[in-house]
Amino acid sequence: MQTSIPGQPCLIGIPYDASSSFARGAALAPQVIRDSLHSPAGNMWTERLFDLATADGLEDAGDVMLGDGEPARETIRNRITDVLAKNLRPIVLGGDHSITFPVVQAVHAAHPDLTILHFDAHPDLYDELDGDRYSHACPFARIMERHLANRLVQVGIRCMTGHQAEQAAQFGVEIIDMHAWAAGTRPVVGGDVYLSLDLDALDPAYAPGVSHREPGGLSVRDILGVIDTCGGTLVGADIVEYNPDRDVMDVTARVAAKFIKEVAGRMLRDSHSIPGLGT
Ligand code: MN
Ligand code: MN
Repeated sequence: MQTSIPGQPCLIGIPYDASSSFARGAALAPQVIRDSLHSPAGNMWTERLFDLATADGLEDAGDVMLGDGEPARETIRNRITDVLAKNLRPIVLGGDHSITFPVVQAVHAAHPDLTILHFDAHPDLYDELDGDRYSHACPFARIMERHLANRLVQVGIRCMTGHQAEQAAQFGVEIIDMHAWAAGTRPVVGGDVYLSLDLDALDPAYAPGVSHREPGGLSVRDILGVIDTCGGTLVGADIVEYNPDRDVMDVTARVAAKFIKEVAGRMLRDSHSIPGLGT
């Protein structure tokens, strides 16, 4: 892998779904999303006119090969740390949402003043689910109790529970639920920002290929708008919970590929504005 711009975006796949509470399948996601991204039916230009197919565009570090449990989380941490050490900005393809905890551990080590912008139908703040503290329903509880983020801003929430509302209050989580979104509230973030994008934040009309379909959600354009306009510097991102087994005509794979492109474009925009690069 060659790096020509500090802060260049880099894909890395984590085919892991052993921490899913309901349906397996997310492990198949990285390859299906890559196939859609590189489909001859499209091209690699972003909406803001970066050509991701150039040497200065989107890198790809391949997939992380995994076992289960803590060894899997350690492998994820190490591989993300490697990507960051090369001055690349990881765009992580899940996998289920449990992967976000070890990914954020690595990102926080490189960017200690981190704001997390989290799109999801679910707050994923359970202390444990079915006896598993590392379930895909728990990553943001693990992140916040270890103080890995200064701020956690959740957008698109519409499956809150009493327990998770208590957790959110305890951790100081800022929540823009669908009522607040519909009323016009938008996330305001700055500094180093990590984007965690659970595809079930979208209304199932836009993204049927998820394990937990929850109607009443965001549109693709809603999320693209935040990616394009939110403040701060995007230092890393994940796109999780795509389940090819539940997709319809690869519609959701294409949505994930679209998000990769625009997240990468946003990272390149942020990189080009770093003083001293002469761009
Ligand atoms: Mn979710
Ligand atoms: Mn989630």
